[in-house]
Amino acid sequence: MTRQDGGSDPEDELSRNQPVITPAPGGMAPGEFRQWGHRFVDWVGDYLEGIGDYPVLARTKPGEVRDALPVEAPATGEPFEALFEDFRSVIVPGMTHWNHPAFFGYFAISGSGPGILGELLAAALNVNAMVWKSSPAATELEEVTLGWLRGFVGLPSTFTGTINDTASTSTFVALAAARERHLPEAREDGMAGAPAGRVYTSSEAHSSVLKSVHALGLGHRGVRAIATGRDRAMDPAALAEAINHDVTSGFRPLAIVATIGTTSTTAIDPVARIAEIARSHNLWLHIDAAYAGVAAALPGVRHHFTGWEHADSIVINPHKWLFTPVDCSVLYVRDPAQLRAAFSLVPAYLETPETDVTHLMDHGLALGRRFRALKLWFVMRYFGQEGLRAILADHIALARQLADLVDAAADWERRRPSPFSLVVLRRSPAGVRGRERDALNLAIMERVNESGAAFLSPTEIDGETWLRFAIGNIHTAARHVDATWEALREPADQVR
Ligand SMILES: *Cc1c(COP(=O)(O)O)cnc(C)c1O
Repeated sequence: MTRQDGGSDPEDELSRNQPVITPAPGGMAPGEFRQWGHRFVDWVGDYLEGIGDYPVLARTKPGEVRDALPVEAPATGEPFEALFEDFRSVIVPGMTHWNHPAFFGYFAISGSGPGILGELLAAALNVNAMVWKSSPAATELEEVTLGWLRGFVGLPSTFTGTINDTASTSTFVALAAARERHLPEAREDGMAGAPAGRVYTSSEAHSSVLKSVHALGLGHRGVRAIATGRDRAMDPAALAEAINHDVTSGFRPLAIVATIGTTSTTAIDPVARIAEIARSHNLWLHIDAAYAGVAAALPGVRHHFTGWEHADSIVINPHKWLFTPVDCSVLYVRDPAQLRAAFSLVPAYLETPETDVTHLMDHGLALGRRFRALKLWFVMRYFGQEGLRAILADHIALARQLADLVDAAADWERRRPSPFSLVVLRRSPAGVRGRERDALNLAIMERVNESGAAFLSPTEIDGETWLRFAIGNIHTAARHVDATWEALREPADQVR
């Protein structure tokens, strides 16, 4: 391999170096992997059992974690003991503990034992399920498990599911398929010169809808925010009017995005009515049920989902309210050929001879796919459908009890309805209004959050501040809700 000109060949130098990796399991010394694996699992067990003793909200200042760590990677390998020590002394104190039973902010979510262990095995297998052949079991388990989830939430078997990282990605993929169907010229010519496409969604929709529309090149004007009523649900008459107006003004309607369980207040768009409007204009209907979708499994709340089976696509996040570790978002579509039309581009190095198999890379933007179905499969098997229903029903019952307490308390009020496991509330003493009331509620929230005992997050409705008390963590029991409610009610003059 000596070059004719006598110069040194970098490739030659590489091959002369002695390999430093020993042929040990996972590149670690024999026995070391097992020893640390056992210690880590013990740490996780202790962490989950003692989670209630941690402050919910991280107490670090911005930059503190970064400053505690070297700016360069170590030149030579370090012992695991040192890594584990820094994990415990630098990383863990810098965490906000989503596992904490009094985490009530955003949408409270949690993994679960079977989900965590599923992640461990998925990391060990480390497959990339881009085409069927690159991991047949990962591809087929995804199909099987998403068939189970579909049955659990009562969707017809005509829907096909794919796992993405987040609902934001799932919604992007759905809207890309809608653009492909309704604005096919964009595939060849791009968006320049194409008719202005429009996506209709309520003014309460998640920001991921607008982000997707931007990413698809439709611009800010590509979203038409439809007004909502007092219940924050989309006004279907305003929707129909907006579409009719756009059709006669040269816009190209592409899709309607309806939400079941909005992020701010868990409002429910009138999906059956919206589905009729979508059908009459032959428009793609996407339903964002990222948080609430799993609750369709409960007979008592099932009626909130009436008509969702008419959608072209639906997103449900098991990583939100189905005890599956982040990340796991499911996109169901009526016709997977529409996803392939938008996304399938097969270079020669990915061609495979199998037919009648699914190639997950054809169902979205990502080529590589983590084996996310494994943890969801473990969760669904370990708890069973009845077990999962019982936890979900418990969370909704806890929210109802809290709602009753709020309704009975002097000086407090609540946004109605509270159909799922979120209660939106605020303190509203006589004579305190406007900015003063907003400041009072933020101060109450800060006091509770800073105590470390619980965590809530705010929202804004008609320009006014409300507090969101979101229940959804697998560790949460009535005593955590009660103690947090008591903490919120501590005399307000201590706050003002
Ligand atoms: C949380 C949420 C999303 C975004 O979820 P990601 O998985 O974080 O992208 C979208 N829509 C609704 C209704 C949500 O509650």
